[in-house]
Amino acid sequence: MKQFRDSMIALITETSANLPSDVRKAIADAVGQETADSRAGLAMSAITLNIDMAVDNVGPVCQDTGMPTFFVHTPKGVDQLAMKRDIEEAIVEATRTGKLRPNAVDSMSGKNSGNNLGCHVPVIHFEPWDRDEIEVKLILKGGGCENKNIQYSLPAEIPGQGRAARDIDGVRKCIAHAVYQAQGQGCSPGFIGVGVGGDRTSGFELAKKQLLRYVDDTNPDPELAGLEQEMLEKANTLNIGPMGFSGKSTLLGCKIGKSHRVPASFFVSVAYNCWAYRRLGVIIDPAEGSITEWQYRSDDEIKRMAQGEGIPLTGREVVLKAPISEETIRSLKVGDIVIVEGEMHTGRDAFHHYVMHHDLPEDLDISGGIIYHCGPVMLKNDDGEYRVVAAGPTTSIREEPYQADVIEKLGLRAVIGKGGMGPKTLAGLQKHGAVYLNAIGGAAQYYARSVEKVTGVDFLEEMGVPEAMWHLQVKAFPAIVTMDANGNSLHQQVDEESFAILEKIGKE
Ligand code: SF4
Repeated sequence: MKQFRDSMIALITETSANLPSDVRKAIADAVGQETADSRAGLAMSAITLNIDMAVDNVGPVCQDTGMPTFFVHTPKGVDQLAMKRDIEEAIVEATRTGKLRPNAVDSMSGKNSGNNLGCHVPVIHFEPWDRDEIEVKLILKGGGCENKNIQYSLPAEIPGQGRAARDIDGVRKCIAHAVYQAQGQGCSPGFIGVGVGGDRTSGFELAKKQLLRYVDDTNPDPELAGLEQEMLEKANTLNIGPMGFSGKSTLLGCKIGKSHRVPASFFVSVAYNCWAYRRLGVIIDPAEGSITEWQYRSDDEIKRMAQGEGIPLTGREVVLKAPISEETIRSLKVGDIVIVEGEMHTGRDAFHHYVMHHDLPEDLDISGGIIYHCGPVMLKNDDGEYRVVAAGPTTSIREEPYQADVIEKLGLRAVIGKGGMGPKTLAGLQKHGAVYLNAIGGAAQYYARSVEKVTGVDFLEEMGVPEAMWHLQVKAFPAIVTMDANGNSLHQQVDEESFAILEKIGKE
């Protein structure tokens, strides 16, 4: 199959940069649900603009391109080993050109392989079938939403829902809780795949396979079809909304599959996918390896998604430029929109761990500064300078154990991320005079546009591209204050309010 490798490069590129037709339609419907100038409306506006920019730039919709996962159907007689080699070569090439972020990290040493290859990576599921063509489906699902996957073993006591038995009502309770627990951390509005039954491993696989279904299909099992519709409606009453800012669009798709199980077990497995729902498929000619058909693409696709300019600037925004004074920070309150100008530094898991145990180099004083929870996609220019290809925020809650201490140690005034942080950070913000700024999760192209220059990088060799500390010069970088220095947290508020609704749903 001479052309198979190139077909896989095309599939990876298109999946990374161009959302499927059914996902576009679901997101467009969600935009219509939110008031344009609400926080939710602004988030949706940035999301839709970002979707268009990704197509125009042929760049990743979101910088986190996840663990590429392929589902391959092959006819009899096809050389699967050769296909695997071609897929791996395509992955390396797509990483080199910035369509994929180098995401494969040795689990023990933390060393990034740099090319997205590693132990059991990429994930390739081969299955034979009796058709005379090859089908390859690819899903790119980032870590933020992957971390919100959840599995229940019934019977169980589900928070906010009470006792969940081994029946349809128990499944209902698990699904309601699964959406609640994700809040905005998985970059809502999201889509869920649910696997009922199987064992712990096959249950999650079944859940993930539900994400391969079309958003607008109907489950052939009438009982599950009814449950899908019911849970979609109920989830959207939780008022979690886009990015967890509160709003009407929390869940855009609910797909449920079932497997047989052993009598002793009853698992309900939920795979949560963010709005950046990147999955496409192709049919391949087994003789040449060329693409004969694209899946998840329809003739009536909504080609342009944006109706606005992302987060529109009114001139009333507070401009933050490092070094920022404590007085400026303490005057900010939840809901304010800020514009960051000048210098910021990226820092995420490895960086926070490092700072807890080491001092930064002496010439690296970032007091009064801003840390951006972001693992960007970077490419090196011919002149040796780096340029940002994609740079949206990553999930902040992972830094919860360290953030308050890092703020104090480095004298930070602002942290930018997405999904919010917990009580320890909130107390740290209040004590040390700092704020948490929520950028729009997944809006990687939208924020990359704000980066004027990459002025330096630290820890690149040790930590790899996503985890290194990048020094960025930004212009007109918008974000929303969601945790202020006066003890207020929008995330805490939305969590409490949605939990009260969850309890109500549990009693219906
Ligand atoms: S949109 Fe959010 S959850 Fe999805 S891959 Fe990007 S950062 Fe992760």
